[in-house]
Amino acid sequence: MRIRILLPALILLMTVSGCMDKYQRLAYNGKAKNIILLIGDGMGLAQASSIFYFQEETPSFVRFQHIGLHQNTPTDAQITDSAAGATAFSAGVKSYNGAIGVDSDTIPQPTILEMAAEAGWSTGVIATSSITHATPASFYAHVKSRRLADDIALGMLEAPVDFFAGGGLDYFAKREDGRNLIKELEDKGFVISTDAMNKPANMSLNNNYGFLLADDGMPEMTKGRGDFLPDATQIAIDFLSQDKDGFFLMVEGSQIDWGGHANDSEYVIEEVKDFDKVINAALDFAEKDGNTLVIVTADHETGGFSLSAAEVRKQRDYKYIKPTFSTGGHSAALIPVYAYGPGAANFQGIYQNNDIFKKMLEAARMK
Ligand code: MG
Ligand code: ZN
Repeated sequence: MRIRILLPALILLMTVSGCMDKYQRLAYNGKAKNIILLIGDGMGLAQASSIFYFQEETPSFVRFQHIGLHQNTPTDAQITDSAAGATAFSAGVKSYNGAIGVDSDTIPQPTILEMAAEAGWSTGVIATSSITHATPASFYAHVKSRRLADDIALGMLEAPVDFFAGGGLDYFAKREDGRNLIKELEDKGFVISTDAMNKPANMSLNNNYGFLLADDGMPEMTKGRGDFLPDATQIAIDFLSQDKDGFFLMVEGSQIDWGGHANDSEYVIEEVKDFDKVINAALDFAEKDGNTLVIVTADHETGGFSLSAAEVRKQRDYKYIKPTFSTGGHSAALIPVYAYGPGAANFQGIYQNNDIFKKMLEAARMK
């Protein structure tokens, strides 16, 4: 009698615990071990479209099957700047224009980079602006105004950033408070390079790496920046992917926005072409890895850029495209989101910019 009752109970117990293991494993399947977030500052749909007409190689964008749109309204205006735009991605909160990693009451909010580090992931930030500029800053600093670049640089000392690359040497080495943050970062275990984007020998997770390759912003593509951004991205991926727990990497094509502000279509298009190489590098890694979520988006559109028909002898001629601009500032257009990898399907639809933070966290296998 006893055996008869016990046996089924035992079998049931074994089955249930076996199933739980299985379901836990299943729950982890389909979650991202790594996240690569690629932000083309100011890269609206027309900017991304431009390389379908002005580049020979097939644009990386065709490699995405899951595409959505985000609305980027900040709390204090109709049109966002890059600080509020990036803070929505990094911290999941809508805030005011100028806010760096703080909410609309200037209260610091934890960023996805910090949460990733907390979960044991390695982290990186890369930009073609100063690394203290609004977009990258919003991932590692908490400052009430984007203008406080010296304070933002101090954020890098406190932040759990393992790899960074960009411009902005002056905010670390020529500061109003006289501190030498290069020295302070080196004391914290950073290997800092200020000359070129070369891969350090024997890159190890025991070290952190920082590249500060211009006093402020990096040069424009049309003025000889070369392959800084794709190279930095590849070196960061090679380094960070040594971490078996996972990694979070944010790469910004900062100057697509600057070309828009300048109403300079060649500037815009050359920057998008450069960013396209970065997207391909991230997707190549993600395809091989199988556990990496790649998100490509922009904080907002810049310039009211459009791919209009050229005018030939005062007649519109549909045979030719002449890119035009409608503003020297940002516009309120919804922004495409291109997603690849575990969790990518969840980025379809139309949602708010700060939902991207939530969707990344939902997709992540943190812990
Ligand atoms: Mg930016
Ligand atoms: Zn801008």
